[in-house]
Amino acid sequence: MKEYVAQGIVLGRRPRGIADETIDLFTKELGRIEVRAVGSRQPRSKFSSHLDVLNCVHIRLAHKSAYTLTDALTSARVHGGTKKGIRLFTLLECAYALRHLLAFAMPDARVWYYLRDMIQKGGGTIRAFLVLLGYNPLHASCIHCKAKKVAWFDCANHNFVCATCATRISQNTLIYIL
Ligand SMILES: [Zn+2]
Repeated sequence: MKEYVAQGIVLGRRPRGIADETIDLFTKELGRIEVRAVGSRQPRSKFSSHLDVLNCVHIRLAHKSAYTLTDALTSARVHGGTKKGIRLFTLLECAYALRHLLAFAMPDARVWYYLRDMIQKGGGTIRAFLVLLGYNPLHASCIHCKAKKVAWFDCANHNFVCATCATRISQNTLIYIL
C-alpha cells in the first residue's frame, strides 16, 4: 500500500454502492484520478462537505489496486462576488471539458494552476482553457461545413463547430466559446 499527499480540484462525484462515492479529481501531482470516498454519502461523513464540485482540496490517499481517500480538507471554494453565477457556469464547463479531454494520470501543472486561479481569484475563460488543453480555435474551422468562424467546441468528438451546424447536432456535449 502506497500513500500520497496531493492538491486536488473536484471535477465530479457519483454514488458507489449505498454509502460511498467515486470522486473525479484533478490533482497537481498525479493528474486526473478517480478515488473512492468510503462513507462519504453518510450524513456524518468527515469528507462530504469537502468534496463539493470545484472545491480545491488537500487530500491524502492510499493506493493498492485503486485510490482510496483517507483525508480531505478544503483549501478554496469558488470565489464569491457579483458575477459568481457566471463564473460558476464557466468553471463547470471547464470541469466538463477536462473530464472529456484529459486522460487519467497525466499531470499538467499549467492547466492545474490555471483552473485553481480561476476558482480562487476569478478571471479566465473557457476559450483560454481549451487552448491550454491543446485545442486552439484560432485557426480552426467547422468540422462539418469547413466554415472559418467556429462558435462551439464539441467535447465528445474533440472538434470545433460553427453556429449553424451546432443547431443540427446534440447540444449536450457542446461548449460555447465566443
Ligand atoms: Zn458548420
